[in-house]
Amino acid sequence: MVRRPILAANWKMNLGRREEALAFVRKIRRGLNEIEGMDLVLCPPYTVLYQVAELLRPTQIALGAQDAHWEAIGAHTGEIAGAMLAEICRYVILGHSERRATLSRLESDLAINQKLSAALANGLTPILCVGENLEQNRAGQTHEFVSQQVKAAFRGRAAAEVERCVIAYEPIWAIGTGEAATPADANRVIGLTVRGALAEEYGESTAQALRVQYGGSVSVENIADFMAMPEVDGALVGGASLRPDFVELARAAAGRQRSRKPAKDGRR
Ligand code: PEP
Repeated sequence: MVRRPILAANWKMNLGRREEALAFVRKIRRGLNEIEGMDLVLCPPYTVLYQVAELLRPTQIALGAQDAHWEAIGAHTGEIAGAMLAEICRYVILGHSERRATLSRLESDLAINQKLSAALANGLTPILCVGENLEQNRAGQTHEFVSQQVKAAFRGRAAAEVERCVIAYEPIWAIGTGEAATPADANRVIGLTVRGALAEEYGESTAQALRVQYGGSVSVENIADFMAMPEVDGALVGGASLRPDFVELARAAAGRQRSRKPAKDGRR
């Protein structure tokens, strides 16, 4: 199974004012647009999605949001529905650990399962974040915890829907800390745990079809080592996606990927 790599930039709550967002996108878009053989996604804050969408329109760079509610419409103050995003976004990050940690009702396993289902129903491609915290890692609970997160998020979904998704394996202790997992560890967890859980539920072919990113302190210096791993299909990048040298990071990612052809979920 050949999977098309995917590199996504999670801006989090940064670059959310019009002028700063547009100036940054103008700086990086030409360099990113020249990169071949890989899907590229920018996930800005909601406030600038429409403006960034305009700048990306003539490029191959896709747009993503950072969350979407499970309901389509109604009394949910402050929330944004998948249907509202589908007009301009192709991707949506779901279940990021920063949200899971602080918004327990909105980011429970059940809520994430419902969000994923709603995102798919609206034609969005979910980037589902999973990953263990430091205590779980030290206690040897990574496999059990991450498997359960993967299974809970996809419960009730058909294999064909699962294959349309992207998973980001992001060990929480590696996010924003400068302490990335080793490429070998990321490769092992993605292969044995993430794909293992998918294989148990949906069979090996689905487990091999879905793209899985690594996330957590990815940088210009280490991206190539992650991309060289056979189970790693790209990265979800936080801090390093906010700097102009994100273009260098993307070039390094594209330069080191294993030779692969577009997968069936490799639409832009
Ligand atoms: C993230 O927030 O998804 C992330 C991986 O952040 P960072 O790259 O800054 O560790």
